[in-house]
Amino acid sequence: MELLKKRILSEGRVMGEDVLKVDMFLNHQIDVGLLGEIGKEFHTRFAGKNINKILTVEASGIGIACITAQQFSVPVVFAKKGYNRNVGNDIFLSDVFSFTKGENTKIGVSRSFIGPNDRVLIIDDFLANGEAVNGLIGILNQAGATLCGVGIVIEKAYQKGGRLLREKGVDIQSLVIIKSMKGGKIEFV
Ligand code: 5GP
Repeated sequence: MELLKKRILSEGRVMGEDVLKVDMFLNHQIDVGLLGEIGKEFHTRFAGKNINKILTVEASGIGIACITAQQFSVPVVFAKKGYNRNVGNDIFLSDVFSFTKGENTKIGVSRSFIGPNDRVLIIDDFLANGEAVNGLIGILNQAGATLCGVGIVIEKAYQKGGRLLREKGVDIQSLVIIKSMKGGKIEFV
């Protein structure tokens, strides 16, 4: 997606070699016009898959998921963070290691909002090592729901998540794939 590449090159900030900050348009201040184009692109890429629900994880996935859901006319469910072990049986839980925070967290979704009749598209802002997406897939598996695909705004190809998920046969569509950020220079695949 050329529009997105341009914004990343002009406004993205590389932290170390691994973290890209896109707080100007995606993760803090949000360019809703750009988000609208992202939603349309995901809709085109996953058309015909009979998706009836979109799943993401709080917080930065929610805006992207909502604008995509508007295209599909389906609801969004977002996994909440920070559950402990004592939540009872009403919640599907997964463990996720946060790449940016360097810590484990539990994410959870109420059993009321996801079940065996759901055909789900997972949406997230970044794909690095695949922890967040794997955690969400774990929730779908517990619920007996069908995974139809994974839509990612920015994938970093030099981290292992994309490769591992594609090896498992998951249909991942990343709108932009970064090959390298060595020396602060962003190169796309
Ligand atoms: P993963 O779970 O695939 O290792 O990492 C993806 C999650 O970590 C995303 O939900 C995103 O919030 C965060 N993340 C990973 N890499 C980056 C990055 O380079 N920049 C930002 N802003 N977030 C990232």
